Amino acid sequence: MIQKDKKFDVVIIGGGASGMMAAIVAARQGRKVCIIEKNKKLGEKLKISGGGRCNITNNEDDMQIFLSKYGKAKDFLHSPFSQFNKNDTFKFFEDLGLPLVVQARKRAFPKSEKAVDVSNTLEKELKKLNVDLALGVKVRNIVHTESKIKKIETTKDNYFADSYIIATGGLSHPETGSTGDGFNFLKDLGHKVKDPTPTIVPLAVADNWVKELAGISVDLMKITFYLDDKKSFAKKGKILFTHFGLSGPLILNSSAQVQELLYDGIVTAKIDLYPDHDIAMLDKKILKIFDGNKNKNFGNIFKLIVPDGTHKSLDSLFQGIDFETKVHSISKEDRRKIIDTLKALPLEIEGLMGFERAVVADGGVDLREIDMKTMNSKMIKNLFVTGDLLDINRPSGGYSLQLCWTSGYVAGKNA
Ligand SMILES: Cc1cc2nc3c(=O)[nH]c(=O)nc-3n(C[C@H](O)[C@H](O)[C@H](O)COP(=O)(O)OP(=O)(O)OC[C@H]3O[C@@H](n4cnc5c(N)ncnc54)[C@H](O)[C@@H]3O)c2cc1C
Repeated sequence: MIQKDKKFDVVIIGGGASGMMAAIVAARQGRKVCIIEKNKKLGEKLKISGGGRCNITNNEDDMQIFLSKYGKAKDFLHSPFSQFNKNDTFKFFEDLGLPLVVQARKRAFPKSEKAVDVSNTLEKELKKLNVDLALGVKVRNIVHTESKIKKIETTKDNYFADSYIIATGGLSHPETGSTGDGFNFLKDLGHKVKDPTPTIVPLAVADNWVKELAGISVDLMKITFYLDDKKSFAKKGKILFTHFGLSGPLILNSSAQVQELLYDGIVTAKIDLYPDHDIAMLDKKILKIFDGNKNKNFGNIFKLIVPDGTHKSLDSLFQGIDFETKVHSISKEDRRKIIDTLKALPLEIEGLMGFERAVVADGGVDLREIDMKTMNSKMIKNLFVTGDLLDINRPSGGYSLQLCWTSGYVAGKNA
């Protein structure tokens, strides 16, 4: 195959969310732009985002609150967000014929609730602006000096440009193309890159009863996780209650899966205190306890049916049961209510606990090495970096994509 030399004003490596945004903004300024994307199609990760609905941004109006979601990176983000924030995201997509709607927890989605519409909208605009799309082409090597990129070598041609934007994404869902190549390119270019930590972290929970149990662990229970009320997965083992939520080996081993769910919607869970008893077996067990304590108040024997040390915090979950009632007068229906609660203590997962709060992603290039006013590398003068490549912790709820739109906009404007 004959390799050609191709020359552009701006070459963008990676046709995901931030790369497409950067390309549109640069092309609108009259720059001759090319996106090199190793997949045959653009925006593969975008298409599966938000469970296929794409939580495109968050409608939090208070900029301070919005930026605080990015934890330690907050101080670096004032400048880029003053150039392009969530209001600009609403306008940008609306102007392209893709109106957005705001749903629970201020999460914004395209009105059509189809992630593929987001990707198609961006692609249509790229074509309208005559952005050159090198699809199915993988960047293999970046040739550079200490302060400048000279050329990009790909599986097909060699690319030369005034400015280069690396927008190759992080490491999650590698089947979408984000295989961490960008981290290696940036390291090779001399940047300090923090490797993403594996997601083995405790879970933050909203419910007070969980926090009240801080310090107590229960050896055998089952936790079932739900995404938007639909059962997702379950695990059995030991759980430790803490002042922020749940921990213990079982939880730590669930956190990566929970992280994925948090991207897609509201995550709740139910704890089964008797995973080895079906309803009939548990009824028998409870009847036996009741029989031995017929004339006592239910409140006085409650601690016999829940794990040690938990009775004072769990009683609020047994709605509709009178704790003053004598055990002998508890009806069969009430017994069933008690059993159903013991097998499904409800809670809502707020996020993942990390170095800061509710982290769903981390790792990437050290922000101190990037001029955040422009997304320009402070070391390589014709290099710009965007999206998941930046070392910024962020919660679910549209904050990751907003970071892509913001960093893509700023890089595209300055490249
Ligand atoms: C399952 C899931 C659901 C999500 N849902 C949401 C959500 O609803 N809301 C939200 O805000 N965030 C969500 N996110 C996070 C969000 O999708 C990412 O933050 C965002 O897509 C990152 O965009 P990016 O531009 O940095 O990179 P990516 O979108 O990952 O794009 C990088 C592109 O670079 C290409 N590439 C990589 N290496 C090379 C190479 N060597 N040569 C050429 N091309 C290369 C890849 O093929 C890829 O297309 C979700 C993430 C996942 C995994």
